[in-house]
Amino acid sequence: MPRETMNIRQNVPLAPLTTLGVGGNARFFGEAASLDDVEAAVRFAQDRNLRLFVLGGGSNLVISDQGWDGLVIKLGIDQIEPRPAGDQVVFEVGAGADWDGFVAHCVSQDCAGVECLSGIPGSVGGTPVQNVGAYGQEVSQTILSVEVFDVAEKKVRNLSAADCGFRYRTSIFNSTERGRFIIVRVRYRLTPGQGPALLYADLQKHFAGQHHPPTLAQTRDAVRSIRARKGMLIHPGDPDSRSAGSFFKNPVLSSAERTELMRRASARGLEVPSYPALEQQHKVSAAWLVEHSGLRKGYVKGNAAISSKHALALINRGGATASEIIALKDEIQGAVSDTWGIGLEAEPVFVGF
Ligand SMILES: Cc1cc2nc3c(=O)[nH]c(=O)nc-3n(C[C@H](O)[C@H](O)[C@H](O)COP(=O)(O)OP(=O)(O)OC[C@H]3O[C@@H](n4cnc5c(N)ncnc54)[C@H](O)[C@@H]3O)c2cc1C
Repeated sequence: MPRETMNIRQNVPLAPLTTLGVGGNARFFGEAASLDDVEAAVRFAQDRNLRLFVLGGGSNLVISDQGWDGLVIKLGIDQIEPRPAGDQVVFEVGAGADWDGFVAHCVSQDCAGVECLSGIPGSVGGTPVQNVGAYGQEVSQTILSVEVFDVAEKKVRNLSAADCGFRYRTSIFNSTERGRFIIVRVRYRLTPGQGPALLYADLQKHFAGQHHPPTLAQTRDAVRSIRARKGMLIHPGDPDSRSAGSFFKNPVLSSAERTELMRRASARGLEVPSYPALEQQHKVSAAWLVEHSGLRKGYVKGNAAISSKHALALINRGGATASEIIALKDEIQGAVSDTWGIGLEAEPVFVGF
């Protein structure tokens, strides 16, 4: 039988639980160490008519300065359970497990499929939400199914990968069914003994000149060092990593929009860079658009700034408020729209706005 209540605290600061480090308090906050706790938390919120927010590793969030006037729950379920499945291995992983810790575990077991996603902060439960991707891999390529607690129907359900509706940085969890499902466990199907995916130019360049194919462990190290150079690896000593990662998605353009972009670029004597990996998906580099809109890496606005290493990362220089981050976001979106006629879509989740 589920317990009546779990340990729920009041007025808990959320900024320290996020990588960007801005925003106010949660009115109520609880950690769910089991499915019973998840059910108890949902009941607690519904009985009091409170809005519920599920916090993962806080690496893709902007919390408002007013905080969250409801219940925040954080999942503590973090077991990793491998199960052989033919010539593959299915890892069933608790949503509260650290994502990069799980990737390290897979690499140490010589299981391929997530090595290029090394160094991405946050929890396992956060990865299906925006179909996390980097360096040519996305979790949708390896997710077999997602176990959720359905808040609407008050029951546990298993969603297949097809049910999750994965697309670029999108799933049902952050679009059509936002707020309905609490992800409890994720099952990933990985392939032992397979070589790494080296699809991105940065990675290919890293291994150019090496005569034998890199191992998964070497690929993981390479991804982490490329990320560190871009401020995309959380490091307490690196102010450029106090961010929510890329703040803007690479826009997907229709052919009319693409023609207009080319026209505007040539009128300015510029050439839009061509990246095969982006072009396959009709995307254009958001970083290039930002850097050619009169803004630059290292641009400072109050306590917020654009990272000095990456044009898409907005950083908290220390003591920033959410309003300062939003003002910088608005300025960037305005400049890109005025210059290129393209609306940049923000990637992080805005909480309590
Ligand atoms: C330095 C840096 C680099 C990054 N690089 C990348 C990158 O290369 N590629 C990429 O895709 N992302 C990247 N990100 C963004 C971020 O790390 C990922 O989106 C990550 O998966 C978010 O997971 P989280 O646990 O931190 O989720 P949170 O930020 O806590 O939450 C994000 C959303 O997921 C929901 N959520 C989290 N857990 C659950 C759950 N158990 N059940 C239901 N909903 C849940 C939240 O409610 C919220 O809506 C980066 C971020 C940073 C700071």
